[in-house]
Amino acid sequence: SAKHAGGNTFRKFNSQMKNVFVSKVLMEDDLRQAIIANNQFELFYQPVMDVKQQKINSCEALIRWYHPKKGLINPADFIPIAEETGLIIPLGEWVIRQACRDLKRWEESQIHLNISVNISAYQLKQSDFVERLTTIVSDERVLPNRIQLEITENGLMENTTDSINTLQKLKQIGFTIAIDDFGIGYSSLSYLKQFPVNCLKIDRSFVKDIPSDNSDSAIVSSVVKLGKDLGLLVVAEGVEGQEASDYLSSIECPYLQGYYYSKPIKFEDFTDLMNEHVM
Ligand code: C2E
Ligand code: MG
Ligand code: MG
Ligand code: MG
Repeated sequence: SAKHAGGNTFRKFNSQMKNVFVSKVLMEDDLRQAIIANNQFELFYQPVMDVKQQKINSCEALIRWYHPKKGLINPADFIPIAEETGLIIPLGEWVIRQACRDLKRWEESQIHLNISVNISAYQLKQSDFVERLTTIVSDERVLPNRIQLEITENGLMENTTDSINTLQKLKQIGFTIAIDDFGIGYSSLSYLKQFPVNCLKIDRSFVKDIPSDNSDSAIVSSVVKLGKDLGLLVVAEGVEGQEASDYLSSIECPYLQGYYYSKPIKFEDFTDLMNEHVM
């Protein structure tokens, strides 16, 4: 019968669906356990270079998860699940608190670094996000102006009126705000005027093939010019080689970040990097 003939296909489809579902549920469970155990996450740091001064300007905190059985898991593989399940809220707060603590640890060894932290749209959407954030930094005795919040373009676009309100409050308190992965989202240029931001981080998809890709080079140099004219800082992400670095310097992109300078590294390694002062 037709019912019987379709049976196999249905079963196959169903079991694939089930695998995805099961692994998500397991991941959610493990993630929840990890947040409770609070010893499986670590912040890595990647330097942001100041081109003019030829030195490290600041760093970006990037989370890593050491799963007890699966080993190292990258954020791309668990942040989306944390977002779907609401676990991004406690996890995101852990990130901010840990970044503050690391900043204080560096201060103790006379290393004065501002830290940029990734904030999920789900965190930004909380009605008490500003209060939560302020509580954490003041608990940790860190001044808001030492922390930059990175929010993706799409994250900002989700609820523009509320976003603008929240960002205005955050900026007033002293946090700096960066639009992350700039250029690949759905925002329009008119929003640049309305969003109280300090910095544009050009998505690395535009950076990886410069200067040989003419369109990418044109886009990047236009964003650098736009940033300059609007009084915004501009960071090029994903600088992997000398050629890209030279091109970005020639168009006076003020800040560069990428493997060419350093991959994201552990706190201790970043401390060594600062002490060696090799860059
Ligand atoms: P992002 O914020 O755009 O961070 C930059 C990503 O590009 C990082 O990947 C970094 O390791 C990588 N990267 C840096 N330089 C280069 C380069 O030269 N070449 C290439 N190919 N890649 C480079 P990572 O650490 O795997 O993080 C991926 C994304 O996960 C981040 O993108 C961010 O959206 C998210 N994420 C990371 N940590 C957190 C966090 O604490 N909270 C939240 N909400 N999201 C986070
Ligand atoms: Mg980022
Ligand atoms: Mg980015
Ligand atoms: Mg990204």
